This record gives sequence, structure tokens and C-alpha cells, in this order.
Amino acid sequence: MPAGISLLWICAMIPYVITLEFKHHSAKDLESFLQRVHTSWPSITNLYSIGKSIEGVDLWVLAIGKDPKVHTVGTPEVKYIGNIHGDELVGREMLLHLIEHLVENYGKDPTITKIINSTRIHIMPSVNPDGYAMTDLENQCLSSSTGRYNKAGSDLNRNFPDYLQENKLPLQPETEAVINWILNETFVLSLSLHGGALVASYPYDNFKGDVNKQGYSKCPDDDVFIHLAKNFSYNHAGMFYGDECEGIPTFTDGITNGADWYPFEGGMQDFNYLVGQCFELTIELSCCKNPAASELETFWNESHNSLLSFFQLVHLGVKGQVLYSDGKPIENATVKVQGRDNINPFRTNQKGEYYRLLLPGNYTLEVTVPKGHSQSVKVEVFDKEPNLSALVVNFNFSITDGPSTTETYQGSNIAGIVEQNIILLIFSVLFSFIHF
Ligand SMILES: [Zn+2]
Repeated sequence: MPAGISLLWICAMIPYVITLEFKHHSAKDLESFLQRVHTSWPSITNLYSIGKSIEGVDLWVLAIGKDPKVHTVGTPEVKYIGNIHGDELVGREMLLHLIEHLVENYGKDPTITKIINSTRIHIMPSVNPDGYAMTDLENQCLSSSTGRYNKAGSDLNRNFPDYLQENKLPLQPETEAVINWILNETFVLSLSLHGGALVASYPYDNFKGDVNKQGYSKCPDDDVFIHLAKNFSYNHAGMFYGDECEGIPTFTDGITNGADWYPFEGGMQDFNYLVGQCFELTIELSCCKNPAASELETFWNESHNSLLSFFQLVHLGVKGQVLYSDGKPIENATVKVQGRDNINPFRTNQKGEYYRLLLPGNYTLEVTVPKGHSQSVKVEVFDKEPNLSALVVNFNFSITDGPSTTETYQGSNIAGIVEQNIILLIFSVLFSFIHF
């Protein structure tokens, strides 16, 4: 056999393996890695860009899932974002290694296979490629640099519309792309990876209406956020100690309420929660923002269990569809959990779906369709064996409850409440990975 043909034959026989080096990847390296992954695993990945930076660099996202191109009813969406501060480099590299780990273990590792089959995962290694390009990779552990900002000098994690206080900063293209992304997908859970400390931070980052307030800014889902944050910190090799970085306050359990650490406005995590109905944590992964490439493998060893186990928390609580009796979905129905006074109530998407992260316990869900008719249902969320699905609670409304034939109900907000008082004994998930 001629040498050329023999080489081709050997290559065809070797399963495709991408070995990603532990180094800092430029925008070009990052793009070519994502393209290679997509080419090698086309059935479980989808590579797309949500827009461009000021310098015209694509904001790449790799989606991973059984059906990676489209949202499927009942499949929750998770996103991980890195590098919003361009000089915080560890998260960017960890996300590339996470992608490699997920695709290479699909079909081999049962847990990873289950995660990918039950969840649509979106990974954006860098939302601030221009800041990354301005970062000095040779001069390690600087406390501040121009690379933190985008090309226009804007801190993207101070640039989001703030529903607790007004944010008048001009919207940057990177921020606008992320906002549109959040509003167009049904994200349930999210991580934003940073550097400069070692802690899992959760909403709120700000206070409602009072710029000078200090201390803990508690949101209605504080219990869920604490659970999410502890899951991350206790699966990490050192975060839960809470005192890893010099000059940074000690964090009990390696977690903190954002405002309790320091309040600020325009943050991405408050926007995700208040507008996107998505529970996002801000994860500080490394005391040094831009460590040497030789340290990246250690960071991966320390953090990959946290990054992997966090995916499964998207299946906490309750999910379902709000439908008319003829099967048509009801968009924009509000889904409230009694006792949780969300500033913007959670609403169903175009397919009538809702996802509501909740810890095990008893809850009353109240669903109100746009014309005002409501139903309330009591549910019990159990802590049981992991099955990678939230408790499914669907709501069916009579066609006469809908907008087309509801003149009778116009202006009637709660007159039609139906108390079904059903205790739904279906199991939900609280994962056994948690050490606390
Ligand atoms: Zn940061």
C-alpha cells in the first residue's frame, strides 16, 4: 500500500481525540478549537456566535446536548460564561477544558452522558475578547489592568440594565448581545467565571432603591442560591475553606451574598435573575487573575468537579407546561410560588413552559394566564434518587379561559382561582454530590 494511503487508513482507524494543551489560548486558538470540537462531534454540538465585540471578534458559544441546535420542551438550558473581565483568564481556559472533557466522555462516562442527554449546555469561553487581547500575559497577578474592560473602557459586569436601581451607562455591543441571548433562550441556571478571589457569590449584588445601603441584600430565592453556591464551593478543592486569598475577606463556606461582599449596580447576575428568570452565580476561581500557563492544570484539577456537578442542579424543583385544553401553549402566564415575592414574576415561554428551581419541601404554585384566570396547586418536592428531571407539574386551562373567548373574565384577576389541592407525589432531585 502506498505510504500516503496507509497513513490515511491509520488515521481513519484512530478515534478522534483532541488533546487540549494547558496554555493561554488566543482568540484564534479558541475559535479553531471550538470548530474542531464541532467538526468532530457534530451530533451533540452546535457552534454559534451571539454577536461581535467592538473589534469585530465573534462571541462564540458551543452548545452541547442531545439536540444541540434547538430548545426541546422539557429540557432545561444551562450556560457558563467566562472572561467578562478580559484580564481574568482562568475561567476562559477552564471552559475550554470542560468542553473537551464533556465531548470526550459522552457515551463513556454514565454521569456525563446523562447530563448531556438531559440538559442543553451553552458554553461561552469569552464574552470580552477585546479585553483579553489587551491583557499582559507575561506580567502575572496584577490587581488591575486595562484588560478588565472592553475596547471602549466599559466594565461589562457593570453595564447591564439594573432593575433595583437605574443604570444610565451606555449599553456596549457585548452586553447587548448577551441580553438578547438571555431573552431569546430559556436559561434556567448559569455561571459567570471570574478571578481575583476564591468564592461563589450570589444575588443580589445591589439594593432596591438605596445606593448607600451596605450588607446582605436578600432575594426571594435566597435559600436556593445558598444551596447552589455551597454545591460549587464544597465540590471545589479549596473554595469551601473561604480564606485562600490574602487581603480578601474570609467567606464562611466559601460563599457570599454579592452585596454583602460589596454592592454594585449593572451586574450580569442580577439581570439574569430579575429579567432572565435564570439563577446565575458569580464564581471567583483564582486569587491571581492572570496566572502563568504552568498553573492552569492545577486550577483544572481543583475546579472541574464543581463545574461538572453544577450542571445537575438545573433539575432541582419544578417544571412544566401551561396549556389550553386543546393542547395549545399559553405564553406569558405568570408562575408564582407562594411566599416568594419575585420583583418580576416568572413567566411561561412561547411553548408555555416554565422552570422553577426549588429545594425539597412543600409549595403552592399559582399560575395566572394573561387574561387573569388562575389555578393554584400544592406540590411536594422530594429529595430522592437523582433522575435528572425536576418534578413535572403541568397546568391545563379551559379554552374559555383563553384570550380568544374570555370577555367574561376581562378585568377579573383572581375571581376564577381553582384550588386543586393536589399533592403531587412525584420525585424531584436533590443531588447526592453535595457534602454539606
Ligand atoms: Zn471579574
